[in-house]
Amino acid sequence: MEFCPECGAMMLPNNGILKCNSCGYSNEMKDSEDYKLSGDIEEHENVKMLGDVEDMRSTINETCPECGHDKAYYELKQTRSADEAPTRIFTCAKCKHTWRAYH
Ligand SMILES: [Zn+2]
Ligand SMILES: [Zn+2]
Repeated sequence: MEFCPECGAMMLPNNGILKCNSCGYSNEMKDSEDYKLSGDIEEHENVKMLGDVEDMRSTINETCPECGHDKAYYELKQTRSADEAPTRIFTCAKCKHTWRAYH
C-alpha cells in the first residue's frame, strides 16, 4: 500500500503509475517492476533444478572406471552449438565417480 507524499491519501495503481485520487499526484511504480523481474529469475532456477533431479534417476549398464561397478546414473547435456554432439555424463551408482563420454 502506497500513500501520497503530498496529501497522505491512498494511491491506486493505474497503467503502471501510482495515482492519488485526492490531489492528482502520480508516481511511477519502479519498485514493483524490479520485484517482478527477480521473481521470474527465481522461477527459471527452480525449473532447471527439477530437470536435473529427473535426469539423475535414469541408470544404465555402464562400467565405472574407478571401482568397476556396472550401474551408473546417466545424464545428457546438449552443448550450446547445434553442430556438436551432446555430452553424456555418467555418475557411478556406487562410488559417485563421474566421467564424460563424447559420441
Ligand atoms: Zn494526494
Ligand atoms: Zn564407481
